[in-house]
Amino acid sequence: MKSKVVLIPVSTYEMSELYPAVKKGLELLGGPGYFIGKEERILLKPNLVRDAEVDRAVITHPAVMEAVAHCLAEEGFTRLSCGDSCGVGSPTKIMRNSGMTGRMEPYGVTAKEFAEAEPVQSEFGGQKRTFMLAKDVLEADALISISKMKTHALEHITGAVKNQYGCICGFHKAKGHTQYPNAESFARMLIHLNQYIRPRLYIMDGITAMEGNGPTSGDPVSMGVLLMSADPVALDSTFCHLVHLSPEYVPTNIHGQKMGLGTWQESEIEILTPEGAISMEEAVSRFGNKDFKVERSPSKGKGILGRIGFLRVFQKKPYIEQDICRKCGVCVESCPVEGKAVDFKNGRKEPPVYDYKKCIRCFCCQEMCPYKAVKVK
Ligand code: SF4
Ligand code: SF4
Repeated sequence: MKSKVVLIPVSTYEMSELYPAVKKGLELLGGPGYFIGKEERILLKPNLVRDAEVDRAVITHPAVMEAVAHCLAEEGFTRLSCGDSCGVGSPTKIMRNSGMTGRMEPYGVTAKEFAEAEPVQSEFGGQKRTFMLAKDVLEADALISISKMKTHALEHITGAVKNQYGCICGFHKAKGHTQYPNAESFARMLIHLNQYIRPRLYIMDGITAMEGNGPTSGDPVSMGVLLMSADPVALDSTFCHLVHLSPEYVPTNIHGQKMGLGTWQESEIEILTPEGAISMEEAVSRFGNKDFKVERSPSKGKGILGRIGFLRVFQKKPYIEQDICRKCGVCVESCPVEGKAVDFKNGRKEPPVYDYKKCIRCFCCQEMCPYKAVKVK
């Protein structure tokens, strides 16, 4: 059976358009009761990577969260909560500042801080891993992942699969980058994590997406779509098609299929719209954006250059735009490498400098810089 991906055109975050769009999307997949039970504790998991104005497309838009909460509450789902572990700061503060808390409260959604971690052991495909999951995730019966459509320096894109990394508590996320220091190993870990958490449903806010220097310093771009699926790999693959990126260049797609989480193959994906099923080709012609700024070459390690080890010469690396840097030190704090691969040299008189020999190219510094001063070349 093919993996269904719902694609609903939505042009604005006005509730008059968004609420019926979410409702229709859920209906096309069989309704919320197909995925979750009314007696269950349901955790909504947005992307709250860090505090930023909603219009910058850094976080899942609060209006999408409201529309989902509304649709669930009116169907009698009363045990709703919402949370994430952000890269910097407090998730409940981000939810409050962005207006998300206020918009979801009327539907009985409780904001969760993801403050406490609990280790869980998981064995999958012969690989044993320990995940430091937020207790709030473990206490929920079911998770609905509500990601943002964005670019990502390490994995090309961040979407349905990557969103679950926020279920890992606080600094344990940074540690994960040192344990899984390249795109391939990090992707395998993400798939394993998704296999463990098994979100029941994946929704992606692609109404305004982020292109360029994502996932936090890129530019907002209108894509005008809301996507939904029970298969996160098919959903991410559809995102790739829409932005003219080959899905097989995205490590989470490749490993997601190999490890049985879902499929990235176009022939195994069925696109559903309110007007009926359409081909991927038609979806791309109607909703795609060939000018979307995203890395369109394969990940390092793929292809002949990777295999013969052409190595660090052609490897992407972060650098700091000197005139933009405000010397706040967030990049230094977020670097997970022991002894820091980016650090101040002369107190804080000059921007931090990189030690590329130590740098594992996790791009946490680029992700966390609040002033868009870290770029990737
Ligand atoms: S986080 Fe950004 S602004 Fe702050 S010191 Fe690092 S590069 Fe400069
Ligand atoms: S310097 Fe940046 S990219 Fe390099 S290891 Fe540290 S956080 Fe990761």
